[in-house]
Amino acid sequence: MSEIDEPAVPTVMKEITYDNFSKICRSCIINRGEIDVFEAHMQNVPLSNVIFSCTNELVTKTDGLSRVICNICMKLLINSYTFVKTFKESQVNLMNMHKVFKNKNIL
Ligand SMILES: [Zn+2]
Repeated sequence: MSEIDEPAVPTVMKEITYDNFSKICRSCIINRGEIDVFEAHMQNVPLSNVIFSCTNELVTKTDGLSRVICNICMKLLINSYTFVKTFKESQVNLMNMHKVFKNKNIL
């Protein structure tokens, strides 16, 4: 295979070898991953589902890619998930309040 057929690899990924490919953080691909996204949960939700709700990207056990994230990315995920969850809950509450105000002809 010629070099032209090889996909472009960002510089950071050149540190990744076949040996550590499954141990690298799935998110930042810099740090070693320590948290298995299928074993760990956040508020009783598997991290793989939390990642999907924040990114709309599927992480599956059979995709052949790393299934671990690092502690730094875990903190980012907690913040993202908290924001997304709060926003969605508030959206429902605001829309309900809006309906009430509209029905009372306040708006
Ligand atoms: Zn990371």
